[in-house]
Amino acid sequence: MYKESRVLMDTYCTITVVSTSRDRAQHAIDEGFAEIKKLEVLLNYFSPDSEITAVNKAAGIKAVRVSKETLEIMERSMEISQATGGAFDPTLAPVISLWKFSRDPSASAVPSPEAVRKTLRLADFRRIAIDGSTSEIMLGEQGMEVDLGGIAKGFAADKAVEAIQALGIKAALVAIAGDIRGYGRNLSGEGWNVGIQDPRPEAETDKPWEEIFAVLHLNDEAISTSGDYQRFFFKDGRRYHHILDPESGYPADSDLISVSVIAPEGVVTDSMATAVFVLGADRGIRLLEAMGIDGVLVDRDRKVHLTGNLRGRLTIVREGYKITDK
Ligand code: AMP
Ligand code: MG
Repeated sequence: MYKESRVLMDTYCTITVVSTSRDRAQHAIDEGFAEIKKLEVLLNYFSPDSEITAVNKAAGIKAVRVSKETLEIMERSMEISQATGGAFDPTLAPVISLWKFSRDPSASAVPSPEAVRKTLRLADFRRIAIDGSTSEIMLGEQGMEVDLGGIAKGFAADKAVEAIQALGIKAALVAIAGDIRGYGRNLSGEGWNVGIQDPRPEAETDKPWEEIFAVLHLNDEAISTSGDYQRFFFKDGRRYHHILDPESGYPADSDLISVSVIAPEGVVTDSMATAVFVLGADRGIRLLEAMGIDGVLVDRDRKVHLTGNLRGRLTIVREGYKITDK
């Protein structure tokens, strides 16, 4: 089993590969990272040279021809926006920029209600025009912007896995922060065990990602986790986190603190975890079950809501968390 971590897409990426040959494993790992790097270059909202920035700059002016990768992720984003009734909306970018969620909480600020209202007017995924035949994308109005931060990591995990699989590797796990996809059997002849991060670790720790509250077995599928603890700041005793409710432009006032979604593809788990966080426990479970995919939803009382299929598959490893029947 060979494993390597690199910083890409503004986060830690780890690729684990099972192979009998060190050279073949290293080659597969390099190819996996190359795939993630390629997507980072195409999709980075903050880079002046990315295709997404070109689309954003041309909003309301002209259509922009994009690569097949950018076209594909935009089409998949639209499907999820539609399926979630707009709870996932990649055109929230202008509102997200207002909030200035950064690694430095002191740099963050609560924007004025007028500013939120004005920029929220620009957000509507229905005003993205995609022409698959010419591979062109156009946003409906100047000032509109797309940010794929809620879907790109899962999509990149899919592409890295496909690249590794194409090299004949029998088992691998690609983790881009909380977006993870695996396939095949590891050295113990099983699928991959993955932990879900504890959204409220008791003790202060400098490695919060090592604190987990539950584990489950991942077969040939992906898991993504979204939560209010990943990027946030406190102001006047209130937690402002980075998942916005497209209806209000404010951090989703959800009854949930963490959502994990399990499905065959990372592009689906990543975007759906973000959307279900916005929708809350009841609507979230109903939507996931209607779509035939799975979820682990943790509410503010640390009650864990599961889709039907997951019962018996998830093991709680931390006190205070309880699977609820409701
Ligand atoms: P994730 O960590 O996958 O839940 O994605 C969160 C990121 O997605 C945020 O940092 C924003 O860039 C973006 N985002 C926030 N709220 C939404 C939303 N309702 N729909 C789509 N993207 C969002
Ligand atoms: Mg997501």
